[in-house]
Amino acid sequence: MEKTAKTNINIKCRKCGKLISGDVYEFEGVTLCEDCYMDEVIAAQPKKCLMK
Ligand SMILES: [Zn+2]
Repeated sequence: MEKTAKTNINIKCRKCGKLISGDVYEFEGVTLCEDCYMDEVIAAQPKKCLMK
């Protein structure tokens, strides 16, 4: 029997396709695992010049 639960079981990362067993992250509407979320956040940051 199935219930609609708000647990995060069987949520897959949209980037790497792994099942997310821990915290589920969302970046620009895309569900991501922690690793991919970090990648996206870093990639989304504007490139800056190295420290002067
Ligand atoms: Zn991922």
